[in-house]
Amino acid sequence: MAKILVVDDSRLISHVAKTILTQRGHEIILAQDGLEGLEAAKSQQPDLILLDLIMPVMDGYQMCQNLKEEDSTKEIPVIMLTSKAEPVDKVKGLELGALDYVTKPFDESELVTRVNIQLRLRQLYEALQKKNRQLQNLANRDGLTDLYNHRYFHDQLSKDFLRAQRYHESLSCILLDIDYFKKFNDTYGHQTGDIVLKTLGQLIKDSIRDSDFAARYGGEEFAIILYYTDKPDAVHVAERLRHMVEHCEIPDKDNLLHFTISLGIATFPDERIHNYKQIVECADKALYQAKGNGRNRVECY
Ligand code: GH3
Ligand code: MG
Ligand code: MG
Repeated sequence: MAKILVVDDSRLISHVAKTILTQRGHEIILAQDGLEGLEAAKSQQPDLILLDLIMPVMDGYQMCQNLKEEDSTKEIPVIMLTSKAEPVDKVKGLELGALDYVTKPFDESELVTRVNIQLRLRQLYEALQKKNRQLQNLANRDGLTDLYNHRYFHDQLSKDFLRAQRYHESLSCILLDIDYFKKFNDTYGHQTGDIVLKTLGQLIKDSIRDSDFAARYGGEEFAIILYYTDKPDAVHVAERLRHMVEHCEIPDKDNLLHFTISLGIATFPDERIHNYKQIVECADKALYQAKGNGRNRVECY
């Protein structure tokens, strides 16, 4: 069951193709020339296009070329319809991106077979793309907290920083680290420590906007990018998160465990910050200060 666009100026040919393919359960859209075909391809997003080559207004070669130049249509497979009576250049059509051709008048089983092959290939291609997206997502994420990982954080921040610089937008970076986490692990065990990390990951997600960005920066260190956010607003977010963490209870056997975090903030623009690495370095210095000033607190660079 697929949506197939048939583009041909001959009503007879279109009708025959429609009859054959409708019987096989496909939905058929018809267009009479390349221009109409192009519009239908864009608006209807068919799974496959059967394309006559010789047509008025815009011929099949031109339509094929336009399809391949447009992001929304370039992946749609094209089968050329060629007639023995017409002088057609199959090689040119294949070079322009068509995948196959069928000769008119149709041999019914040939048409159906070639259509099915292209539909099957398209399905496989889409499944592969989906898998690739899933793998890419896995590669960008931290397994324990499902936040983005250190590498992706740097990729993201480097782009975001350039944009903030170019458009004079403010951008804040928060680095945060669990206080005395080594002792926590030593006292309650590594597994309970992992639960703390997961819980903190969730608290971070809950405390920022969907459009902001959070990552697990290292073992027990996390990073947050806040877009269009100046220093006072960043302090507000950081204090809210610090407060949430302070009041969070982790059930463990008969106890409710507590933990705290220290946070460092750096905000662009700042005359000391000229690239994305410097904003992280500055947030790290502020975090170091927060540790030095007693932990469970927020400091700005
Ligand atoms: P501070 O307040 O100065 O940050 O002290 P701290 O003990 O938190 O810092 P330190 O750097 O000495 O110890 C970090 C600890 O974080 C040590 C390590 O076992 C723990 N850690 C890092 N990654 C993980 C993890 O994935 N799971 C668990 N459970 N612990 C981790
Ligand atoms: Mg024609
Ligand atoms: Mg720590």
